[in-house]
Amino acid sequence: MGWLDNRVALVTGGASGLGRAVVRRFVDEGASVGVLDVSADGLDDLEDELGNSVVTIAGDVTRLSDNETAVERTVDAFGRLDVFVGNAGVFDDNVTIAELPEDDEALAKSFRDLFDINVLGYLLGAKAALPELVETNGRMVFTASGASFAPDGGGSLYVPSKHAVAGIIRQLAFELSPTVSVNGVAPGYVPTDLSGIDSLERDEGGLIDESEFDPSVHPAGIVPTPDDYAGAYVLLASEENSRPMTGTIVRANLGRDVRGIGA
Ligand code: NAD
Repeated sequence: MGWLDNRVALVTGGASGLGRAVVRRFVDEGASVGVLDVSADGLDDLEDELGNSVVTIAGDVTRLSDNETAVERTVDAFGRLDVFVGNAGVFDDNVTIAELPEDDEALAKSFRDLFDINVLGYLLGAKAALPELVETNGRMVFTASGASFAPDGGGSLYVPSKHAVAGIIRQLAFELSPTVSVNGVAPGYVPTDLSGIDSLERDEGGLIDESEFDPSVHPAGIVPTPDDYAGAYVLLASEENSRPMTGTIVRANLGRDVRGIGA
């Protein structure tokens, strides 16, 4: 018995990193999963790994029509939609306000390129999934971040965009309760393409070499893997196990916040 037996989910940005770990774990827990991502190669690879348990849709979260196609293809393949996971995101390489372009057009483009994916993309995915989720009394789960609460990795575009994600979670929970539940997971640093810390060597327990240990980034010298976070998404996707939770953002950061490091 899995926690998500007979459930159907749609995950954006599921071709790599955190999203991919979530897709894998959802399938392990009995779900069938639609995956929307811009990376066609990543999606092919995912299909090779997970076969008929997934249906993949190559598309861009910044277009409503691509989100609608993803919902449609998922429902065509698996008959219903119970869970929407908004996760696709991009980083700003810690750009400071002073480093943002001077030119109006270039500045607006930097802003839009990031906010369109990190913020608008979540809203469009939620909008496209909503009619199906209303049918199933479904659940939405969004990837937030420590940067949703305070400057904690990221610069003057990424951190405001992740604060906006906290706003999306709370507003949609307010609007949609009790029909659809809306929650988030706020991971701390995790090695993925986005965070660019893939290169750290870890032993089996996740402990990194002393020479690379930076206590401001890795409390207790532990570097989690994307898989370590996937269980929090399973919890929030599972109606049986998190029914009363809505508008909640689960902090999963190895104690960075309680240690007073970052958010
Ligand atoms: P990642 O780069 O490994 O994965 C992001 C995925 O999103 C990729 O598969 C990419 O192709 C996809 N994507 C990007 N733009 C897209 C678009 N326009 N349309 C569809 N798909 C698109 O990065 P990750 O670290 O797994 O990031 C996933 C989420 O986790 C992001 O929302 C990020 O902000 C958040 N997050 C990451 C960390 C971290 O340390 N890595 C910490 C906190 C939160």
